[in-house]
This record gives sequence, structure tokens and C-alpha cells, in this order.
Amino acid sequence: MRNTRQRAAILTVLRETESHPTADWIFQEVRKALPQISLGTVYRTLEMLAQEGVVRELDFGPRKRHYDGSPGKHAHVVCLACGRIADVDAPLSPELSRSVSETTGFQIMEQRTEWYGYCPDCTAAHV
Ligand SMILES: [Zn+2]
Ligand SMILES: [Zn+2]
Repeated sequence: MRNTRQRAAILTVLRETESHPTADWIFQEVRKALPQISLGTVYRTLEMLAQEGVVRELDFGPRKRHYDGSPGKHAHVVCLACGRIADVDAPLSPELSRSVSETTGFQIMEQRTEWYGYCPDCTAAHV
């Protein structure tokens, strides 16, 4: 029962943001609704939700794991300066997967695409 409430609270936080937050950020937000929740519980619950395919885990290296409340397939663009992660709504070309399959002999099940650059807020300072 308690577990269900924690799970629901974590999902609500994730679904209400488009920022692809880290577990620490989610923890700070969930704590406003459930002050007793621990960071360990947040980590475990996120892991479970990711395994079930309810949320998506985005791994950008050690201690850079982010969570995505929309599990559907979509690509991301990541800011090199502030670390902001945004969804890319442009459709991914299926031809790319097909040519990877043809040249490697792999049967492609999933394609993960990330672009890196500077977001509108950081462009002025870095380009
Ligand atoms: Zn930025
Ligand atoms: Zn996303």
C-alpha cells in the first residue's frame, strides 16, 4: 500500500515535467508530497518502473542517469553547457536502421539517438 503511494507520487512528478530529471531531483520533488520517502526508495522505484517500461532511463555516463516520463520512442538533444535534455519531435528515419541492419547483419530492435549542442539559452555564450 505504502509502496503504491510512493510509486504513484514518483510517476506524477515524472509525468509533470519535461526536464528529464535525475533521481536526486525527483527525490527533492517527491519529498514535498511524501516527506518520509528515502532516496534509496526513489532509486529502487525508478529502477522498477524502468524495467517495466513505464519510464525510460537515459544513461549519460556515471552519475548522469536521467529519467523520462514518456516511455515512447523519441530522440533527445542534450545541451553541452547546462545539461538540459529536450525531446526531439522530428520523426526518425527508418532507413537509417535498415542500412545499419544491412551492413552489420544485426536485426535492429531499438534505435537510440542523441544530438549534442548548445540550447537557445547557452548559444550566445558558447558559439
Ligand atoms: Zn544550455
Ligand atoms: Zn524524452
